[in-house]
Amino acid sequence: MSKRNKVGSAGRFRAGYGRKVREKVWKVEKIQKQKQLCRCCGKPKAKRLSKGLWECKACNKKFTSHAYHT
Ligand SMILES: [Zn+2]
Repeated sequence: MSKRNKVGSAGRFRAGYGRKVREKVWKVEKIQKQKQLCRCCGKPKAKRLSKGLWECKACNKKFTSHAYHT
């Protein structure tokens, strides 16, 4: 079992990437796990399928969005 630190899921990046980068990744992944507003119907029902690809559970449309939040 790997020890989890406060950067959570970004912990897999280990050292070498630097603390600031890992914190940035952690923030991005936190956003990506949340549901996004659909571009088609505006409801917060969009689920992330992969990098920049989202699927809305309300209108069943797939759309691309920003892969990364900076
Ligand atoms: Zn929608």
